[in-house]
Amino acid sequence: MEKNQKNLNGKNNIKKIKDNQKRKIDDNTLACPVSSKCGGCQLLEQPYLEQLEEKEKIVSKLLAPYGKLEQIKGMDFPYFYRNKVHAVFAQAKGGKIISGVYREGSHEVVQVDKCLIEDQQADAIIGTIKKLLPSFKIKPYNEDRGYGFLRHVLIRVGHNSKEIMVVLVTASSVFPSKNNFIKALRREHPQITTIVQNINNRNTSMVLGEQEKVLYGPGYIVDILCGKSFKISPKSFYQINSIQTEFLYHTAMEFADFQGNEKVLDAYCGIGTIGIVASDYVQEVVGVELNVDAVSDAKGNARKNQVKNIHFYQGDAGRFMVKMAEKRETVDVVLMDPPRAGSDEAFLKSTVRLNPKKIVYISCNPQTLARDLSFLTKHGYQMKRAMAFDMFPQCEAHVECVALLHRKKAEARGGKL
Ligand code: SAH
Repeated sequence: MEKNQKNLNGKNNIKKIKDNQKRKIDDNTLACPVSSKCGGCQLLEQPYLEQLEEKEKIVSKLLAPYGKLEQIKGMDFPYFYRNKVHAVFAQAKGGKIISGVYREGSHEVVQVDKCLIEDQQADAIIGTIKKLLPSFKIKPYNEDRGYGFLRHVLIRVGHNSKEIMVVLVTASSVFPSKNNFIKALRREHPQITTIVQNINNRNTSMVLGEQEKVLYGPGYIVDILCGKSFKISPKSFYQINSIQTEFLYHTAMEFADFQGNEKVLDAYCGIGTIGIVASDYVQEVVGVELNVDAVSDAKGNARKNQVKNIHFYQGDAGRFMVKMAEKRETVDVVLMDPPRAGSDEAFLKSTVRLNPKKIVYISCNPQTLARDLSFLTKHGYQMKRAMAFDMFPQCEAHVECVALLHRKKAEARGGKL
């Protein structure tokens, strides 16, 4: 666990948070002119330390039956953290082009020039695109009339690599003055490393369509997380807050306290991030994931990082575990990171049957974490540590948690399956 240990032990720096809170009050660049219309940052008016206290209280209450929650990990500077930024384009009544977000619960576009939680370079690129459109006679798409070209812009920024991907979501595939438009955009933002056109001609609330054309660069970006490289395509799942994700993964590794000889299961592994980070510290990792594209990305990421002791399988994690249990395979540590709905009984029952020494449960929904902990603690496991991470400062959105469970000694185990 010594590798990449750049003060990522998850401890809070309360003084830094307080100083930065003061900076927010003194600094009018940290005020949002559209917060009431946008509705994205419900907690913006609340001091950050109070936001953290409230989030910690919610999780702490849910996990209380199983053990104590350690101090929540907040951000030193809780702004401009979103590495994925989305803007919808439209034309206002007088013909002016606007870009921003849909007003909550409607399809009315609220103009957003700068956002306090989005990457600032991404916002600047969106501003440039808006400025360039009229001179290239590119019209934003009008949903009601089904007329126009540019629907959305999606930007993904590699927080550590600094690579930038711009995805132009268009209503049709023919892109007039494409080359000159791209040249003009790159001239103003030479940091852009790839530009992709995504064609979405359906009447849908989904931002991205099926068809993609790479207009510049490789069509994806690579970011570095916990010292490993990960390929991010327009549709890949990748945590939005890279700073907090590094803390989260390092804490998961610290909780697992690998000794080097373990066989580890990375369940719900997505593009393989957690398993690849763990692979340095253990003998073997097996990853399982339902999404076909994510599995293919995970395999590519393992190759990219020259990780030889990891294997990925596509399938339902529950069914995969049932099969492993039937074959009486052994696993020393289960790392699991299920979606918001949590895990299912097939998975949890088979986990208990496989009888790993430790389970490290990474959760994006404390409610389902508590439900699954209730099952695991009734079937031979005990929660040893738990910690929450604020992934979305200024927002009510969910809190991420890591919980460590140990297998109880044989005599203390109860509850048959
Ligand atoms: N560990 C990854 C992804 C976590 S998100 C990361 O941190 O990047 C949860 C993942 O679970 C998603 O990739 C989703 O596709 C996957 N998933 C959802 N239901 C599943 C199931 N029944 N079996 C396996 N994977 C599933």
